[in-house]
Amino acid sequence: MSGKKEKSPLTPLGKLLQTSIKQVGPISIADFMDVCLAHPEHGYYMKQQTTKIGKGGDFVTAPEISQMFGELLGVWAVATWEKLGTPRVFRLAEIGPGKGTLMKDILRVAQNFPPFHNALGGVSMIETSQALRRVQAEALGAVSIDKNWTNSDAERDSDASDIGDEAEWERGGRRQERKARWCLPCKSKIDWHDDVRQMPVESPSIIFAQELLDALPVHQFEYTENGWRERLVDVDEDPQTPHHFKFILAKEPTVPVINLERIMPRTLQKFLDAAAGSPCGHDKISDGTKTDEAIEDPEKKKLGTSLEVCPLALQLAQHVAERVSRTGGAALFVDYGEDMAQGDTLRGLKMHALVHPLAEPGEVDLSADVDFQGLREAVAHVEGLRVFGPMSQGEFLSAMGIEARLQALLDGEGEEGSGLTDRQALLLYDSYRRLVDPEQMGRKYKVLAFVAGSHQGPAVAFPSTSLGTKGVTENTEEASGE
Ligand code: SAH
Repeated sequence: MSGKKEKSPLTPLGKLLQTSIKQVGPISIADFMDVCLAHPEHGYYMKQQTTKIGKGGDFVTAPEISQMFGELLGVWAVATWEKLGTPRVFRLAEIGPGKGTLMKDILRVAQNFPPFHNALGGVSMIETSQALRRVQAEALGAVSIDKNWTNSDAERDSDASDIGDEAEWERGGRRQERKARWCLPCKSKIDWHDDVRQMPVESPSIIFAQELLDALPVHQFEYTENGWRERLVDVDEDPQTPHHFKFILAKEPTVPVINLERIMPRTLQKFLDAAAGSPCGHDKISDGTKTDEAIEDPEKKKLGTSLEVCPLALQLAQHVAERVSRTGGAALFVDYGEDMAQGDTLRGLKMHALVHPLAEPGEVDLSADVDFQGLREAVAHVEGLRVFGPMSQGEFLSAMGIEARLQALLDGEGEEGSGLTDRQALLLYDSYRRLVDPEQMGRKYKVLAFVAGSHQGPAVAFPSTSLGTKGVTENTEEASGE
């Protein structure tokens, strides 16, 4: 008989989850993901942590790989502002800004384009983690100021009070939103909000969301002999299994299943038809095995078909789209995923290695592929909005001129001036390859743009065809329900 295997460590959040599941029953994967990432005390993004994102952390994102990424998104913002007819005042915003590196690089570029920079009326950071808000404030050189200050006050007194102590940021929330902050290097007001709908509405805005949507909670569904059922997370007390939690299937239809069948009947049918027509049916059934009968009978082939849906990503896309349509401006989403819904892409990441998503709750980054088709369909009803993409990150960055920027940096035009060592030049070239090579981030990562009606021509860097609103007619009836 084999000896008793060690389970993955039971974290403090794992203990809380165990207790609550034992009391109220299994929870949805979305609730599990939400608690793991956003629990106020133990959530992955909520803890005092500057080290999770970046080379020494659990995962590296494009802005952390190379300054070129943020610089080219900065150039995109400048060119987009021109296509919007150079509005006299506009706002830059980012949702889910992590360590603030992308916005910092965008604002550095902005300073090289005086008319654009002079029109910058403010910066909004949409961030739910108080711990990361403070990291971002530090990255941007944001200092506390009196709420009634005008831009000229701040220019006169550029050594305004400091960033604010940690406790003040931790108290966070409403209290902190009442505080005004000033970004010293970019000379404009900067504010933090929990939700994009709280941003000031007086001017058009150019909004970025980079690797945000993949961190929003997903639901998973599986087709069974009794119809669609939701996958849930239950405690796993079997001493022989590797984790303290396991996936199970709900016995009865849960509210999300009922909603899914009402709102997305065609997507469900498409998934089942594809499974019935494929040579060996579904990829996976609940216990992870395939049965011989499933291979022959089309009805049986459907069993185990799974579908992943991220309602919060669809909602967030709608909020951004509604804002762009109402106040003008544009938005750019960069994330990994496909231009279609998928079955099961939920993954855990720790120290740059894939781990089981149910291991060590709160200590593991959880994410899932973004369904770009779902996003396009979710905003199809928004008046006057045009949607471009998704196009691959590699093609986007090439269209924005990353090769020329790489050459300029290799020629010594970077922040540190000339004189790159051979090793630095090699690292720079490696980071370029990582961003654009289709085998690395170039194909899997994709870019989707929303532009307001006042925007001239296609979104900057995108081919001329708009896939937006009226272009996506096939599923609009489904999308409008979401
Ligand atoms: N854009 C950054 C960070 C990606 S990690 C980068 O590319 O490096 C995801 C970020 O989104 C974190 O800052 C996290 O705290 C934030 N976040 C997660 N859910 C959010 C939500 N609902 N609204 C705003 N920010 C959110």
